[in-house]
Amino acid sequence: MKHYAKDFIEFVSHSPTAFHACEAACEALRAAGFSQLKEQEPWAIAPGGGYFLTRNRSAVVAFTVPEGGASHFQIAASHGDSPAFKLKPNAEDLAAGAYVRLNVERYGGMLMSTWLDRPLSIAGRAVVREGGRLVTKLVDFGRDAVLIPNMPIHFNREVNDGYKFNPQVDLLPLYGGADAQGKLAEEIARSCGAAAEDVVASDLYLYNRTPGAVWGADGEFFSCPRIDDLECAYTTLRAFLDAVPAGHVNVFAMLDNEEVGSGTKQGADSTLLSDALARIAAALGMDGEQARAAIASSFMVSADNAHAVHPNHPEKYDANNRAFLNAGVVVKHNANQKYTTDAVSAAIFGEICRRAGVPVQTFVNRSDILGGSTLGNIANAHVSMNTVDIGLPQLAMHSCYETAGTRDLAYMIDAMRAFYCADIRTFADGEYEIG
Ligand code: ZN
Repeated sequence: MKHYAKDFIEFVSHSPTAFHACEAACEALRAAGFSQLKEQEPWAIAPGGGYFLTRNRSAVVAFTVPEGGASHFQIAASHGDSPAFKLKPNAEDLAAGAYVRLNVERYGGMLMSTWLDRPLSIAGRAVVREGGRLVTKLVDFGRDAVLIPNMPIHFNREVNDGYKFNPQVDLLPLYGGADAQGKLAEEIARSCGAAAEDVVASDLYLYNRTPGAVWGADGEFFSCPRIDDLECAYTTLRAFLDAVPAGHVNVFAMLDNEEVGSGTKQGADSTLLSDALARIAAALGMDGEQARAAIASSFMVSADNAHAVHPNHPEKYDANNRAFLNAGVVVKHNANQKYTTDAVSAAIFGEICRRAGVPVQTFVNRSDILGGSTLGNIANAHVSMNTVDIGLPQLAMHSCYETAGTRDLAYMIDAMRAFYCADIRTFADGEYEIG
């Protein structure tokens, strides 16, 4: 079990931003023999083949085509972005005449306090002039570069009774002394191998450099940055790569911008999935009527992490529908359909897990707690099909150092491999067979 945790921690260490997570997934797909398609060109696909495409280089959709025809799609969708601080343009700011600090703004809803007093680095992408073109380059400083220092307790003796952070005042990272002015642009250019005057624009984020750790009495827990939602991205990708489809097209999707509502061209609230499915159907020779029938017969797993019961606050969780670390894959329900799960999708996914010997837990928020949202219901507005919302149980969601269960990685890979290998047949609205 621990080797999955170590391998996942390695994956996370190569994925400081959604751009890097996308590239890490693409590398794994290339290594497995997948061919890259471009959205900007026509697609030619063949039975037995594996393909992938990226959009914005921060979202990736991969698919495998079975030998002998496909009647529908079986999709797992996760997200590769995480809450972080984004550098504003013109980020360098001279503070107190003696420090260069960086002007940042929040991306998503992070637990702010976790970002203080730890070495942070900077990563993302830059757009660079190169040979008369504008090209995108990954940027990663890859070193301890900045830090957001706390105020000493002596200036606020009540700080431990609760403190409201002002992101424009309290959360700006320190980058250097006064003589560091101009160094940020130089370091961005250096890290993407360009001259400073050729860096035209960038999307850069702070990230936590603390290495991941496997810990606990018997190594049953692990902690690292960005477990939400790279844990689902990593496990669904591993399962996808293991599975050989029969009778359907398997699809792996890692989308972007879930943490800010998914409303971008590379998020769940875009045409990315519907475009990809329509083009796959067309390339397989389906006409419009057959493509609609295929989508109506399809099944999606929306995979985004779930809250495990916190050891110090068990009272915050529903009495009968609560999840624990290392107790299996979590199926998430919500009456107002923030989660897509219903009796049909819970039954189909639950049956697949039962056959695979994977324990399933159910999660519902307490009725007096609002809870979060995810990408399944948003994606369903564009490609409507039976969908289940699942995730792995974790602690400290949206901390910059989160915690999950070592055994759950294996449960999820087993469950998702079984999902991709099963052939979910729809005979009529409400009638299904799992082959
Ligand atoms: Zn998430």
